[in-house]
Amino acid sequence: MRRALELARRAWGETHPNPMVGALIIEEGKIVAEGWHARSGELHAERVALNNLERKPKPDATMVVTLEPCSTHGRTGACCEAIARAGIARVIVGAEDPFAGHAGNGFAVLRQSGVEVISGILAEECADLNLIFNHWIVRREPFVALKTATSLDGRIASRHGESQWITGATARADVMRWRRYFPAIATSSGTVLADNPRLTSRCEGAEEWCPVRFVFDRRLRTAERLDLHVFSDAWREKTVVVTAAQAAEERRDVLKKNGVAVWALPVATEQDFFCAFKNRCAEENLPGVWVEGGGTFLGSWLKSGAADYLYQYVAPTIFADEKAIPAFSGSETDLGNLFRVNRLKYEKLGSDSLLRGHLEIGN
Ligand SMILES: [Zn+2]
Repeated sequence: MRRALELARRAWGETHPNPMVGALIIEEGKIVAEGWHARSGELHAERVALNNLERKPKPDATMVVTLEPCSTHGRTGACCEAIARAGIARVIVGAEDPFAGHAGNGFAVLRQSGVEVISGILAEECADLNLIFNHWIVRREPFVALKTATSLDGRIASRHGESQWITGATARADVMRWRRYFPAIATSSGTVLADNPRLTSRCEGAEEWCPVRFVFDRRLRTAERLDLHVFSDAWREKTVVVTAAQAAEERRDVLKKNGVAVWALPVATEQDFFCAFKNRCAEENLPGVWVEGGGTFLGSWLKSGAADYLYQYVAPTIFADEKAIPAFSGSETDLGNLFRVNRLKYEKLGSDSLLRGHLEIGN
C-alpha cells in the first residue's frame, strides 16, 4: 500500500476534480504491474495497472489500490467490473469511497463477482491524500484551506510589518508543494500590493506552475498597478480579481482589457461574499482553493465560517510583542466560541512544524 501511495502521488495536483489513486498487481509475492490515475478523463489506476500487465493475471493475483474501486460506469467504465473480468483473485483497498451513497458498493460488487476484498489498509493515509476530492464529492463546493506561517506566539510579522523568513527553507518548500496540490490560490489586494507575489508554485526539479490566481479586492485598488506580477506575467489570464458588485465599472474595464477576469459578487455581509465566491468556484468546476494572506484577510475567512481547513507553519521563535501582527484578527471570541481545528496532523519540517486540520464550522 505504501508503494501504491507513492504511485498515486506521481499525479500530485494533476487529477482534479478526480482523486489521486495508485494501484499495483502482486503475483507470488512480487509486484508485476503498477499504475496510477494521471488526470481526469484518463483511465483509472486499476485499469492502467491491468493494461500495464499486458497479459492475463495469474489465478492467485492480488490488486492493491489506495481507494475503493468505482462500481458505477463513468466515462471510462467501472473498475470493479474490469477487475473481476480480468480474473484478479483478491483486492486490498486503502480508503473507502468518501461519497456515502457509493461507500462500500465497490466492495459488494467485487464480492458478488467472487473477488476477495480486504479493506482499510493505511485507510487514514489513503484518505488524507485526497483532501480536496473528499470534500468536493460530498459537498459539491470547493475545499478552502487557509495557510499561515507564524511564530510560537502566533504572530506573522513584527509591529513594523517585517514578515520575511519567519519559517525556514524546508517549510517554505513544503508550502510550494501544497500550492501545487491546489487548482487555485487566493490572496488579498493588501498582500498583492505590499509583496507583489507571483502566486505560483516553484518546486525544486519542476517547472514553475501557475494555478488560477484570485486577488480579493473589493475597491479594485490593484487596478492602478498593472505592473504587478499577477497582472503582467505570462499567466495573467489565470488571474481573477474578486470584487464587490458595486465596484467601479471603469476599474473593472481596466483589468479586463489587460486580460484579467473580474468576478463581481454581492457583499451584503462577509459571509455572503465568501459564499458567493465558493458558489462561483463550484460553477467553474474549481474543487479547491489555497488561501494565503495577512491576519485581517484570514481572520475574515475564519469568522465567515466559509473556510474548511488550516495549514499553520510554526517557527520556534517568539515575538513577545503584543503589537506584532497576529495570524488571525477581527473576531471577539470568548472561551465558549473559540474556533477549533479537528483531526489535527503534525509534521516536523526542519526546525519548523506544520499543523494542519479541519476547521470547525458554525461558530
Ligand atoms: Zn475506477
